[in-house]
This record gives sequence, structure tokens and C-alpha cells, in this order.
Amino acid sequence: MEMNDKIQAIRGMNDILPTDAHWWEFFEETVKDWLKAYGYLSIRLPIVEQTALFRRSIGEVTDIVEKEMYTFEDALNGESLTLRPEGTASCVRAVLQHNLLYAGALRLSYMGPMFRHERPQKGRYRQFHQVGVEALGFEGPDIDAEQIVMAARLWKNLGLSGLKLEINSLGDSASRARHRGKLIRHFEENLDLLDEDAKRRLHSNPLRILDSKNPAMREIVEAAPKLLDDLDEDSAAHFAELKKTLEGLGIHFEINPRLVRGLDYYNRTVFEWVTDKLGAQGTVCAGGRYDGLVGQIGGKPSPACGFAIGIERILALVEEENQGRTAEARDVYLVHQGEAASRFAMIASEFLRDNDFSVILHCGGGSFKSQMKKADASGANVAVIIGDDEAGAGEVTLKPLRVEAGQQRMGLAQAVAWLNSHSI
Ligand code: ATP
Ligand code: MG
Repeated sequence: MEMNDKIQAIRGMNDILPTDAHWWEFFEETVKDWLKAYGYLSIRLPIVEQTALFRRSIGEVTDIVEKEMYTFEDALNGESLTLRPEGTASCVRAVLQHNLLYAGALRLSYMGPMFRHERPQKGRYRQFHQVGVEALGFEGPDIDAEQIVMAARLWKNLGLSGLKLEINSLGDSASRARHRGKLIRHFEENLDLLDEDAKRRLHSNPLRILDSKNPAMREIVEAAPKLLDDLDEDSAAHFAELKKTLEGLGIHFEINPRLVRGLDYYNRTVFEWVTDKLGAQGTVCAGGRYDGLVGQIGGKPSPACGFAIGIERILALVEEENQGRTAEARDVYLVHQGEAASRFAMIASEFLRDNDFSVILHCGGGSFKSQMKKADASGANVAVIIGDDEAGAGEVTLKPLRVEAGQQRMGLAQAVAWLNSHSI
């Protein structure tokens, strides 16, 4: 690289600029209240883990492990490390490491960046963000239903409508094995219709062929035997109870027999929330039951269920539905000129902040006129003006910027009372 080349961010890894950051904050605040309403406790996990954790949990023959992980060797000790591509594996690892399941069931949530080496496009990035919830130690379909209705409440709290819920059941390992045999037979009989990916997966992970996004494969996938027809009795009862509970809650769903999810650890219930407003990247939330995972990564077997929300995709919807609405206006822009005025302005701005106002104190000098222009451009509702005259009297002049009203001069305590009692 030439010395003078500008250094750019890595492709697919985005800066979140102040113009967008307020949507992230709105989302994070909404999520915080929402998690509290359902009793989920937050857990903060490292961004880097041993590669083995993801290979063992997500599965060797999955898109993520085969081609999407940022894996590197620790230069100091040669350990194979990976930037986390998702949160469930880390969350379960932490729960086991710290023995958090000792007291029984547990509801946990996390939020943060995930990393996958994918082709960057709208809604698909190399660093993206998820908020995820995991309920560990719960066996019945009640928690599956609660997580689904929980997601529905978040859409409502975010002002989103029109998201569709798809559900399916993957059964237990025996029913999957039965179905697997039938699938392999079906695809073998139609070998010439399979694409390269499908041929490669035919014997290692035929279930994933059902997940194919290749339109040329649609017909053969549609015709494949359905796992739902092969469910073991317990899984069928679990699924029936889930459907009944969702109906009771008034949650509309569609059964999608081809919904298998891109990760290996799922069993029984799987679900996705989808939208048709984001083109090909229409899945905004995905999850399901993973009763085998805790045992698989070394713990005492414990049933579990969870889901993750793609924050970029949800925010794309939030922004679309809230078009035209801009950031919250700031309260006060403080304009001042003169030596005594500037010193008093610093004190006055602290006083206003003591009283919960958001204050932009003008810094860098300039004429009153140019400062007032900046006050106007800042989005503040009111300019608080201090000249040496005001400073001498310990007073300020208030000038509303967004409504027709004259300016008024008063003491600081009065100014706080005035600002609190007028809609500006
Ligand atoms: P997709 O089929 O879109 O690749 P996935 O099955 O790989 O999704 P999950 O691992 O289930 O996705 O992740 C849960 C959610 O995280 C997705 O539904 C999506 O909203 C979001 N997500 C996944 N990968 C990305 C990405 N590369 N960029 C942005 N969001 C993503
Ligand atoms: Mg993917």
C-alpha cells in the first residue's frame, strides 16, 4: 500500500454513523425493556473462541463451518481461533464453564457483533449484529411458544407489522435418521438434477439440500419426502402442543416442511420470522430447539431453545416503517460571547445538565450571528444566549427556535422552570 492511500474499512464490515446510530439506540433500549419483561438475564461473551467450539456445535458440513468462519492461528501459541459466527455455542460454552445450570433452568440473552465470510450485499455483511436469547433446561413446548410470542411482542414494540412466522419440526435423532435414508434415496434417484453443492452434501448432510437457495433445485426439493411425515411420537405431540398454544395466543404461523435451518444442532421446533420487504435477505429472526447441544459440547444433557435476530435486517425495516422521522431534537444550544460570558456559559450549561437537559455548548468562538446559525442547524429547540451583560447579572436569554415566540431574559433557576413548563 502506498503511504498516502486512504485506509478503508474491511469489505462487509460497516461503520455505524451518527445518522444511523439513533436507530441502534432506539433498538437497544427497546430490547432492554423487552428482555426484562420476559425475565431474560444478559450475558456478555468473548468475540473470539477456540475453533473447535464452532466445529463441534454448528456442524462440519454447514455453510458456516465449511466456508464462512474467520479462523486464524494465534501467532503466539499456534492455537486455532475463530471470530464467533453466532452466539449460541459461546453462550452454552459459558454456561457449562461456569456451571450456571446448577440451579435448574436459565433464560439468557446476549447482543453483539458476529463474523461470517460471506459475499457482502444488502442485508448480508461480514460483521453483523445479533441479539439472541437462549432458554436452557426447559423441555416442554411452552418455552418454544413463549419465545415465539416474545419475538412477536418485539416487532410490535418496534412498530413493525407484516412479519410472517414459519415453523417446522425436525423431530428427534431417530426420526431424522429415518428421514435421512429416504432423502438420500430420493436425491440419488434424481442425481442428474442436483447441483454441485447438493451432490457434495448428498451423503454428509442431505437435510441441508432442502435449504438450497438454487431455483433450479426447487422442483426436486419440493418433491422430497417430508420430515414432518416421519416424526417420532413425542416430537409430533410436542409440535401439536406448540401449534395449539400459538393458536390460543392468536399468533399466525405457516408450516414450512422445508425449513431446516443452516446449523446442525437443531431438533424438534425450528422457526423463522420472514419479511418480503428485504429481497433475498428476508429472514430477520431464526431459532429453535437444540436439546442435544449441551451434551455435545461436554455438559450434562439439558434441553434448550433459543433464537437470534439479525439487527441490521430488523433496523432496515424499522427505518423503512419510520420514514421521515428523524432523531430526537436536542434541548438547548448555548450561545455566548465575551470573556465573562464564556465562563458563565460553562457554569450555566452544567446547571442545565444537572436538571436533565441536553446541552450543546458552543465552542470555538465566532459572532452571535454565526453561533445562532449553528444553533438552528443543531436541531436544538431553544437557544440559551449569554452576553457579558447577562453574565454580570447571572441571567440568560432564552430564544425558542422551533416555535414563534419572542426571547426572554431570566435567572438560571427560572430558566429551568420555564423550559420544563413550555412546549418548545
Ligand atoms: P441466511 O439464510 O440469511 O444466511 P442463516 O441461517 O445463516 O441466515 P442464522 O445463523 O440463523 O442465519 O442467524 C440468525 C439471523 O442473523 C438471520 O436470520 C439473519 O437475520 C441474521 N444474519 C445471518 N447472517 C447474516 C449476515 N451475514 N449479515 C447480516 N445478518 C445476518
Ligand atoms: Mg447464512
